[in-house]
Amino acid sequence: MQTPYFLIDKEQIEKNLKLLRHVMDDTGCKILLAQKCFSCYALYPLIGQYLSGATASGLFEARLCHEEMQGSENHIFSPFFREDQIDEICQICDHIVFNTPAQLERFGSKAKDAGLQIGLRINPECSTQEGHAIYDPCAPGSRLGTRLGDFENAIRCNPSLLSLIDGLHFHTLCEQDSDDLKTTLDVVVAKFGKYLTSMKWINFGGGHHITREGYNIDLLEHCIIRMRDDYHLQVYLEPGEAVALNAGELHATVQEIQPQDEHGICNIILDTSAACHMPDVIEMPYTPPLQHAKPFLSDDYNGLNDKRNVYRLGGPTCLSGDIIGLYEFDHPLQEGEELVFEDMAIYSMVKTNTFNGMPLPDIYVKESPSNTTLWKSFGYEDFKHRL
Ligand SMILES: *Cc1c(COP(=O)(O)O)cnc(C)c1O
Repeated sequence: MQTPYFLIDKEQIEKNLKLLRHVMDDTGCKILLAQKCFSCYALYPLIGQYLSGATASGLFEARLCHEEMQGSENHIFSPFFREDQIDEICQICDHIVFNTPAQLERFGSKAKDAGLQIGLRINPECSTQEGHAIYDPCAPGSRLGTRLGDFENAIRCNPSLLSLIDGLHFHTLCEQDSDDLKTTLDVVVAKFGKYLTSMKWINFGGGHHITREGYNIDLLEHCIIRMRDDYHLQVYLEPGEAVALNAGELHATVQEIQPQDEHGICNIILDTSAACHMPDVIEMPYTPPLQHAKPFLSDDYNGLNDKRNVYRLGGPTCLSGDIIGLYEFDHPLQEGEELVFEDMAIYSMVKTNTFNGMPLPDIYVKESPSNTTLWKSFGYEDFKHRL
């Protein structure tokens, strides 16, 4: 197996799916895979066995679900639907969620006539996350979701809009626990509760870190049961991360160890790249877990001495900032050594690119501890065809 490559752990995915299924069985909710996080469709048949279906961010993901997770519910949300795609979307999707009353006005009747369930994404204007404004759809000025004031203006102008809507959708969380869901749900009920009584379903979106150790599943189930019992709603959840959490590795090889810099730290050139293979490391930003090492905080420079195996891991691209991070290893690194980055199934393969002509990592699936199969192999043609 030549590095760099992704290794997807099917048994861990199944473990995650069993936990999600447990929540479905306890509460009667339906859980969908958010494909934008993890689209490794080799596993779609397995995912379809446990979950109710998938949700898409656009036509292409919806097609992928239609082709690879057959017989499952196919949902779609997009801030904007294209006139030239709406017919195909109506043919293959079961639920369509509009971002604004204007989109609902434009396409709602057509989708309803085609037999789809119609949703409207709301913005409850309730921020529960600090730090990452780019992951907060409730941040000031957000274009995602309809605020209560805009919703009420729209139905005042066109009361028939309300009768088109089968359900409300909110998505406001990112890697969060159920206490933040509860906070959000309280606001959704306070603001939109009077409309929920005429709805069939509510979709809690994604960002629920359900399969993370320590996540409060009881409170999640309480939130679901509340909407089920108080409003007689079918509850949907559409997590991405929770489906494939801790279920993938990215393997890379130490190509060169450079001399110490002014802080006494050696730069390591790897055959993988933050910019090309794990762009969230730079965008989010975060330092991915790495076997036999722990992230090293740069304000610890003073404590550095030759006994500490601290390295700065970087990619082979032209970008100065193509840095995965500073790590302290439990041993000195050697050229040719293989490194294993963890939790690399989510938001990684879906985001890779070939900047600098970097090859894309191959993708292997570990079916069981003794059986690993090559699923995808990439080469020069993949680079050339995209240009
Ligand atoms: C991103 C997103 C999800 C999935 O989010 P995760 O953080 O991966 O669980 C679900 N629904 C919508 C609308 C999204 O934008």
